[in-house]
Amino acid sequence: MVRGTIPRQPAKTGRHEGARRTPKPAAPPRTFTPKALAPKPAPKMTPRAAKPVAKYDPLAPERVREILKRLDERYPKATCALHHRSAWELLVATILSAQCTDVRVNLVTPVLFQKYPNVQHFAALKPEELEPDIRSTGFFRNKSKSVVGAARKLVSDFGGEVPNDMEKLLSLPGVARKTANVVLGTWFHHATGVVVDTHVTRVSHRLELTRQENAEKIEQDLMRIVPRERWIDFSHQVIWHGRQLCMARSPKCAECPLESLCHAADKTWSTVEIHKAAKP
Ligand code: SF4
Repeated sequence: MVRGTIPRQPAKTGRHEGARRTPKPAAPPRTFTPKALAPKPAPKMTPRAAKPVAKYDPLAPERVREILKRLDERYPKATCALHHRSAWELLVATILSAQCTDVRVNLVTPVLFQKYPNVQHFAALKPEELEPDIRSTGFFRNKSKSVVGAARKLVSDFGGEVPNDMEKLLSLPGVARKTANVVLGTWFHHATGVVVDTHVTRVSHRLELTRQENAEKIEQDLMRIVPRERWIDFSHQVIWHGRQLCMARSPKCAECPLESLCHAADKTWSTVEIHKAAKP
Protein backbone atom coordinates (compact mmCIF):
# COMPACT_ATOMS: atom_id res chain seq x y z
CA MET A 1 0.00 0.00 0.00
CA VAL A 2 1.19 3.46 -0.87
CA ARG A 3 2.01 5.52 2.24
CA GLY A 4 -0.55 8.18 3.19
CA THR A 5 -3.32 6.71 1.17
CA ILE A 6 -6.07 5.50 3.38
CA PRO A 7 -8.81 3.53 1.88
CA ARG A 8 -12.21 5.06 2.30
CA GLN A 9 -14.25 3.79 5.13
CA PRO A 10 -18.01 3.58 5.21
CA ALA A 11 -19.50 6.70 6.85
CA LYS A 12 -21.01 6.28 10.22
CA THR A 13 -24.25 7.80 8.98
CA GLY A 14 -24.62 4.92 6.59
CA ARG A 15 -24.16 7.23 3.61
CA HIS A 16 -21.20 6.94 1.31
CA GLU A 17 -19.69 10.29 1.26
CA GLY A 18 -19.11 11.36 -2.29
CA ALA A 19 -20.64 8.18 -3.60
CA ARG A 20 -22.18 8.62 -7.02
CA ARG A 21 -25.90 8.48 -7.27
CA THR A 22 -27.46 5.93 -9.56
CA PRO A 23 -28.56 7.85 -12.75
CA LYS A 24 -32.26 7.92 -13.50
CA PRO A 25 -33.24 5.97 -16.57
CA ALA A 26 -33.36 8.29 -19.61
CA ALA A 27 -36.78 9.54 -20.73
CA PRO A 28 -37.80 8.16 -24.08
CA PRO A 29 -36.96 10.51 -26.92
CA ARG A 30 -39.74 12.91 -27.81
CA THR A 31 -41.29 12.42 -31.20
CA PHE A 32 -41.97 15.59 -33.14
CA THR A 33 -45.32 15.86 -34.81
CA PRO A 34 -45.94 18.87 -37.05
CA LYS A 35 -48.90 20.87 -35.80
CA ALA A 36 -50.80 20.46 -39.02
CA LEU A 37 -50.62 16.67 -38.76
CA ALA A 38 -51.45 16.45 -35.10
CA PRO A 39 -54.82 14.89 -34.46
CA LYS A 40 -57.38 17.57 -33.75
CA PRO A 41 -59.53 17.37 -30.71
CA ALA A 42 -62.99 16.13 -31.46
CA PRO A 43 -65.37 19.08 -31.91
CA LYS A 44 -67.82 19.65 -29.17
CA MET A 45 -71.25 18.38 -30.17
CA THR A 46 -73.79 21.10 -29.87
CA PRO A 47 -77.36 20.18 -30.79
CA ARG A 48 -78.26 21.75 -34.12
CA ALA A 49 -81.68 23.16 -34.85
CA ALA A 50 -83.42 20.68 -37.17
CA LYS A 51 -83.78 22.11 -40.69
CA PRO A 52 -87.49 22.28 -41.51
CA VAL A 53 -88.33 19.93 -44.38
CA ALA A 54 -90.80 21.51 -46.82
CA LYS A 55 -94.01 19.50 -46.65
CA TYR A 56 -95.34 18.28 -49.99
CA ASP A 57 -98.45 20.18 -50.93
CA PRO A 58 -100.19 18.90 -54.08
CA LEU A 59 -102.21 22.12 -54.23
CA ALA A 60 -99.23 24.47 -53.96
CA PRO A 61 -99.81 27.34 -56.43
CA GLU A 62 -96.44 26.78 -58.13
CA ARG A 63 -97.27 23.08 -58.71
CA VAL A 64 -100.72 23.90 -60.11
CA ARG A 65 -99.19 26.61 -62.32
CA GLU A 66 -96.67 24.10 -63.68
CA ILE A 67 -99.42 21.57 -64.42
CA LEU A 68 -101.40 24.23 -66.31
CA LYS A 69 -98.29 25.29 -68.22
CA ARG A 70 -97.47 21.74 -69.31
CA LEU A 71 -101.09 21.08 -70.31
CA ASP A 72 -101.00 24.26 -72.39
CA GLU A 73 -97.84 23.13 -74.14
CA ARG A 74 -99.14 19.60 -74.81
CA TYR A 75 -102.72 20.55 -75.79
CA PRO A 76 -102.60 24.12 -77.14
CA LYS A 77 -105.75 23.77 -79.22
CA ALA A 78 -107.89 21.50 -77.07
CA THR A 79 -111.58 22.03 -77.58
CA CYS A 80 -114.83 20.09 -77.41
CA ALA A 81 -114.64 16.92 -79.52
CA LEU A 82 -118.42 16.69 -80.00
CA HIS A 83 -119.48 17.86 -83.46
CA HIS A 84 -122.16 20.55 -83.37
CA ARG A 85 -123.44 23.58 -85.30
CA SER A 86 -125.57 25.21 -82.60
CA ALA A 87 -126.05 25.36 -78.85
CA TRP A 88 -128.99 22.95 -79.23
CA GLU A 89 -126.92 20.39 -81.14
CA LEU A 90 -124.16 20.67 -78.55
CA LEU A 91 -126.68 20.20 -75.77
CA VAL A 92 -128.09 17.05 -77.38
CA ALA A 93 -124.61 15.67 -78.15
CA THR A 94 -123.51 16.26 -74.55
CA ILE A 95 -126.57 14.47 -73.16
CA LEU A 96 -125.85 11.54 -75.49
CA SER A 97 -122.16 11.44 -74.51
CA ALA A 98 -122.87 10.22 -70.98
CA GLN A 99 -121.26 6.76 -70.61
CA CYS A 100 -120.44 6.82 -74.33
CA THR A 101 -117.46 7.81 -76.45
CA ASP A 102 -117.47 11.07 -78.39
CA VAL A 103 -116.61 9.07 -81.51
CA ARG A 104 -119.83 7.07 -81.19
CA VAL A 105 -121.89 10.23 -80.53
CA ASN A 106 -120.36 11.89 -83.59
CA LEU A 107 -121.55 8.96 -85.70
CA VAL A 108 -125.10 9.23 -84.37
CA THR A 109 -125.76 12.98 -84.34
CA PRO A 110 -125.38 13.82 -88.07
CA VAL A 111 -128.13 11.32 -88.92
CA LEU A 112 -130.22 12.50 -85.99
CA PHE A 113 -130.07 16.20 -86.89
CA GLN A 114 -130.82 15.46 -90.50
CA LYS A 115 -133.97 13.64 -89.44
CA TYR A 116 -134.99 16.23 -86.81
CA PRO A 117 -133.42 19.54 -87.90
CA ASN A 118 -134.40 21.75 -84.95
CA VAL A 119 -135.57 21.85 -81.35
CA GLN A 120 -139.25 22.05 -82.34
CA HIS A 121 -138.98 18.71 -84.15
CA PHE A 122 -137.58 17.08 -81.03
CA ALA A 123 -140.25 18.72 -78.84
CA ALA A 124 -142.97 17.15 -81.01
CA LEU A 125 -141.61 13.60 -80.47
CA LYS A 126 -142.55 11.02 -77.91
CA PRO A 127 -139.41 9.75 -76.15
CA GLU A 128 -140.05 6.23 -77.51
CA GLU A 129 -139.87 7.58 -81.05
CA LEU A 130 -136.35 8.83 -80.47
CA GLU A 131 -135.03 5.66 -78.85
CA PRO A 132 -134.10 3.72 -82.05
CA ASP A 133 -132.03 6.66 -83.34
CA ILE A 134 -129.85 6.90 -80.24
CA ARG A 135 -129.87 3.26 -79.10
CA SER A 136 -126.16 2.75 -79.91
CA THR A 137 -125.11 5.44 -77.40
CA GLY A 138 -126.36 3.34 -74.47
CA PHE A 139 -128.87 4.24 -71.75
CA PHE A 140 -131.10 5.25 -74.66
CA ARG A 141 -134.41 5.26 -72.71
CA ASN A 142 -133.21 7.82 -70.19
CA LYS A 143 -131.41 9.81 -72.86
CA SER A 144 -134.56 9.93 -75.03
CA LYS A 145 -136.57 11.27 -72.09
CA SER A 146 -133.90 13.89 -71.37
CA VAL A 147 -133.55 15.10 -74.98
CA VAL A 148 -137.31 15.29 -75.65
CA GLY A 149 -137.96 16.78 -72.17
CA ALA A 150 -135.27 19.44 -72.69
CA ALA A 151 -136.67 20.29 -76.15
CA ARG A 152 -140.19 20.72 -74.76
CA LYS A 153 -139.02 22.97 -71.93
CA LEU A 154 -136.93 25.08 -74.32
CA VAL A 155 -139.94 25.55 -76.61
CA SER A 156 -142.40 26.25 -73.77
CA ASP A 157 -140.21 28.43 -71.49
CA PHE A 158 -137.32 29.85 -73.50
CA GLY A 159 -138.70 30.55 -76.97
CA GLY A 160 -136.91 27.52 -78.43
CA GLU A 161 -133.49 29.02 -77.58
CA VAL A 162 -130.84 27.46 -75.36
CA PRO A 163 -130.39 29.92 -72.47
CA ASN A 164 -127.01 31.43 -71.77
CA ASP A 165 -127.44 30.97 -68.03
CA MET A 166 -126.47 28.24 -65.61
CA GLU A 167 -129.63 28.30 -63.52
CA LYS A 168 -131.93 28.15 -66.54
CA LEU A 169 -129.91 25.35 -68.11
CA LEU A 170 -130.10 23.37 -64.88
CA SER A 171 -133.91 23.63 -65.05
CA LEU A 172 -133.90 21.48 -68.21
CA PRO A 173 -134.57 17.74 -67.78
CA GLY A 174 -131.40 15.66 -67.91
CA VAL A 175 -129.10 18.67 -67.64
CA ALA A 176 -126.64 18.75 -64.73
CA ARG A 177 -123.64 21.02 -64.16
CA LYS A 178 -121.36 19.00 -66.43
CA THR A 179 -123.63 19.43 -69.48
CA ALA A 180 -124.36 23.06 -68.60
CA ASN A 181 -120.63 23.84 -68.27
CA VAL A 182 -119.92 22.23 -71.67
CA VAL A 183 -122.60 24.33 -73.39
CA LEU A 184 -121.78 27.58 -71.56
CA GLY A 185 -118.01 27.20 -71.97
CA THR A 186 -117.81 25.80 -75.50
CA TRP A 187 -120.68 27.61 -77.22
CA PHE A 188 -121.11 30.80 -75.19
CA HIS A 189 -117.50 31.08 -73.93
CA HIS A 190 -118.74 31.72 -70.41
CA ALA A 191 -116.52 30.36 -67.67
CA THR A 192 -119.10 29.30 -65.13
CA GLY A 193 -117.31 26.23 -63.84
CA VAL A 194 -115.08 23.28 -64.68
CA VAL A 195 -116.46 20.34 -66.65
CA VAL A 196 -116.16 17.25 -64.47
CA ASP A 197 -116.58 14.04 -66.42
CA THR A 198 -114.98 10.63 -65.98
CA HIS A 199 -111.65 11.82 -67.46
CA VAL A 200 -111.42 14.94 -65.29
CA THR A 201 -112.31 12.90 -62.21
CA ARG A 202 -109.63 10.28 -62.89
CA VAL A 203 -106.83 12.71 -63.82
CA SER A 204 -107.61 15.04 -60.89
CA HIS A 205 -107.40 12.13 -58.47
CA ARG A 206 -104.12 10.90 -59.93
CA LEU A 207 -102.64 14.39 -59.75
CA GLU A 208 -103.96 14.80 -56.16
CA LEU A 209 -105.90 17.94 -57.08
CA THR A 210 -108.91 16.65 -55.18
CA ARG A 211 -109.90 13.82 -52.90
CA GLN A 212 -113.60 14.25 -53.46
CA GLU A 213 -115.69 11.61 -55.23
CA ASN A 214 -118.77 13.69 -55.92
CA ALA A 215 -118.64 15.60 -59.24
CA GLU A 216 -119.87 18.89 -57.78
CA LYS A 217 -117.36 18.78 -54.94
CA ILE A 218 -114.56 17.92 -57.37
CA GLU A 219 -115.62 20.92 -59.45
CA GLN A 220 -115.55 23.18 -56.38
CA ASP A 221 -112.02 21.99 -55.54
CA LEU A 222 -110.80 22.59 -59.10
CA MET A 223 -112.46 26.01 -59.27
CA ARG A 224 -110.57 26.99 -56.12
CA ILE A 225 -107.11 26.15 -57.48
CA VAL A 226 -107.44 26.85 -61.23
CA PRO A 227 -107.76 30.53 -62.21
CA ARG A 228 -111.17 31.36 -63.65
CA GLU A 229 -109.78 32.42 -67.03
CA ARG A 230 -108.40 28.87 -67.38
CA TRP A 231 -111.57 26.94 -66.49
CA ILE A 232 -112.74 26.35 -70.08
CA ASP A 233 -109.35 25.40 -71.54
CA PHE A 234 -108.39 23.38 -68.47
CA SER A 235 -111.57 21.28 -68.84
CA HIS A 236 -110.86 20.53 -72.51
CA GLN A 237 -107.16 19.86 -71.91
CA VAL A 238 -107.73 17.44 -69.05
CA ILE A 239 -110.40 15.59 -71.06
CA TRP A 240 -107.96 15.26 -73.96
CA HIS A 241 -105.22 14.19 -71.57
CA GLY A 242 -107.50 11.51 -70.15
CA ARG A 243 -108.24 10.22 -73.64
CA GLN A 244 -104.74 10.37 -75.12
CA LEU A 245 -102.34 9.52 -72.28
CA CYS A 246 -103.92 9.22 -68.86
CA MET A 247 -106.34 6.44 -69.68
CA ALA A 248 -108.14 4.44 -67.01
CA ARG A 249 -106.04 1.36 -67.76
CA SER A 250 -102.33 1.46 -68.51
CA PRO A 251 -101.77 5.22 -68.66
CA LYS A 252 -98.86 6.20 -70.92
CA CYS A 253 -96.75 7.72 -68.15
CA ALA A 254 -93.45 7.43 -70.05
CA GLU A 255 -94.86 9.87 -72.65
CA CYS A 256 -96.64 12.15 -70.20
CA PRO A 257 -95.49 15.75 -69.78
CA LEU A 258 -96.84 15.74 -66.22
CA GLU A 259 -94.86 12.66 -65.17
CA SER A 260 -92.39 14.40 -62.86
CA LEU A 261 -95.29 16.09 -61.05
CA CYS A 262 -97.45 12.98 -60.75
CA HIS A 263 -97.30 10.52 -57.84
CA ALA A 264 -100.26 8.37 -58.88
CA ALA A 265 -100.40 4.93 -57.30
CA ASP A 266 -101.13 3.21 -60.62
CA LYS A 267 -98.46 4.88 -62.76
CA THR A 268 -96.91 2.58 -65.33
CA TRP A 269 -93.51 4.32 -65.12
CA SER A 270 -92.16 6.78 -62.60
CA THR A 271 -89.14 8.92 -61.75
CA VAL A 272 -90.71 10.20 -58.53
CA GLU A 273 -92.02 8.58 -55.40
CA ILE A 274 -95.46 7.01 -55.48
CA HIS A 275 -98.28 8.14 -53.20
CA LYS A 276 -100.59 5.28 -52.34
CA ALA A 277 -103.55 7.60 -51.84
CA ALA A 278 -103.23 9.12 -55.34
CA LYS A 279 -105.70 6.72 -56.91
CA PRO A 280 -107.93 7.27 -59.92
S1 SF4 B 1 -97.84 10.35 -65.28
FE1 SF4 B 1 -99.27 8.73 -65.89
S2 SF4 B 1 -100.83 8.71 -64.30
FE2 SF4 B 1 -99.73 10.64 -64.09
S3 SF4 B 1 -100.91 12.12 -65.29
FE3 SF4 B 1 -99.34 11.28 -66.64
S4 SF4 B 1 -100.31 9.56 -67.70
FE4 SF4 B 1 -101.57 10.07 -65.90
